[in-house]
Amino acid sequence: ATILAIESSCDEMSVAILRDQKELLANVVASQIDIHKQYGGVVPEIASRKHVECVSAVLREALQTAGIAVDEIDAIAATKGPGLVGSLHVGMQEAKTLAIALHKPLIGVHHIAGHIYANAIENTIHYPCLALVVSGGHTELVYMASEFQFEVIGQTFDDAIGEAYDKVGRVLHLPYPGGPVIDKMAHAGKHSYKLPVPLDDGSYNFSFSGLKSAVINLNHKYEQRGETINMDDLACSFQDVAVEALSSKALKAAHDLKVKEIIVAGGVSANKGLREKMANSDIPVIFPPMKYCTDNAAMIASAASVMYKYKKFSPLDISVKPDYDLEKESVGV
Ligand code: ATP
Ligand code: MG
Ligand code: FE
Repeated sequence: ATILAIESSCDEMSVAILRDQKELLANVVASQIDIHKQYGGVVPEIASRKHVECVSAVLREALQTAGIAVDEIDAIAATKGPGLVGSLHVGMQEAKTLAIALHKPLIGVHHIAGHIYANAIENTIHYPCLALVVSGGHTELVYMASEFQFEVIGQTFDDAIGEAYDKVGRVLHLPYPGGPVIDKMAHAGKHSYKLPVPLDDGSYNFSFSGLKSAVINLNHKYEQRGETINMDDLACSFQDVAVEALSSKALKAAHDLKVKEIIVAGGVSANKGLREKMANSDIPVIFPPMKYCTDNAAMIASAASVMYKYKKFSPLDISVKPDYDLEKESVGV
């Protein structure tokens, strides 16, 4: 099936056209990072207004790039949540209009199911598997017994990992978003500062606020003493401790549950430290191609391809859901 998908949950407006889950015909992403940079984070009101301005141009560019006639499209998909409510509305409304105009089914997709199925475009997922979800708003371990079955077995008690990166970045006066900048700095530094190991308790849960505060406090202590901290070393120390927590918990769960592989999902799956740490694990670890790590519509189209197969369609009066349960999106639920 050929799916046209729209992703607009945060500060990216993206439209993708994907054929039979593997053949990507277009994936246009209009990012607003340069606008939100000056505020040090995403301003929801600005994000939704910019989405309204650019959605038609992004849609047109995707259709032109794909070079297909609209009647070749079998279904229209859009992210229904979680995300910023005003941002979600723009993509969903566009999708509903297209679905009506083209007489095609509508598929409302969970954003995290999208991040997970970013791994199914250039790879084949082998079940049972464990998804390590590491993004700006989520850090969780999701057990998948079979295709599109989600069981959240652990999650963060406080900050998501991407959020911790971005908050540390802000305090260190790094450009937004802090994640990729800290990742780069970490590779120029060494692990020389002692930081607390987060939630080393044998559970599948995470906690990153303590680690984040420790980094911020250490930097503050140096500032007060009038000394300069080595920023690259601080970034390296933070990243080392963070990715060790992610990788050790994911591997423990993967062994306990006897999965065939671990699939990593979400913006922080772009992290080089995490990729290196998990590269030689005793269970296969799959990362999405770099271009599908942060928000994009190709991943939404990939999840929608699976939903299409199971005829998991949405009514045209579907509402967006700023936060909602991944488990309830499982096929058959
Ligand atoms: P969610 O998917 O939970 O709704 P989101 O969509 O805002 O949140 P993503 O787009 O999945 O988040 O990912 C963005 C996050 O990924 C940001 O926090 C960003 O700092 C982080 N990130 C991107 N690249 C890297 C990297 N190389 N290292 C660490 N973090 C990174
Ligand atoms: Mg984003
Ligand atoms: Fe995301």
